[in-house]
Amino acid sequence: MKQEEKECIFCKIVRGEIKSDIVYSDDNFIAFLDINPKAEGHTVIVSKKHFRNLLDMPTTLGNEMLEVVKNVSLDLIKQGKAEGFNLVVNNEPVAGQIVFHAHIHILPRKKDDGLKMLV
Ligand code: 5GP
Ligand code: ZN
Repeated sequence: MKQEEKECIFCKIVRGEIKSDIVYSDDNFIAFLDINPKAEGHTVIVSKKHFRNLLDMPTTLGNEMLEVVKNVSLDLIKQGKAEGFNLVVNNEPVAGQIVFHAHIHILPRKKDDGLKMLV
């Protein structure tokens, strides 16, 4: 295993070395609740393989990742934790990336929740 994979927080979660509230898992992706949620149900979709960010992730995994994003988002809506949602992908430090392992944030939204988005 590469040193960066040994030390990576999300790789540790994938390996089960760090506990997390996992809401979904399959061969290539895992989804768990963000430890520092910006809204109830704030979830991150993470590739099981280590890639620095979305640019390094093979495009062939894109469809599958989108499918996971849709299914997890639909579950949040069904559970009443979201009426809608924003997707956020931070790539590189200048864009706010702090965990250098490819992931997409799902931010559940509710009417008048006061959350501010960039766009
Ligand atoms: P980004 O790299 O896109 O800025 O965000 C990484 C996200 O990972 C942050 O929202 C942060 O709260 C979350 N995070 C960092 N460490 C852990 C952890 O150990 N467990 C969980 N569940 N989330 C984490
Ligand atoms: Zn990693």
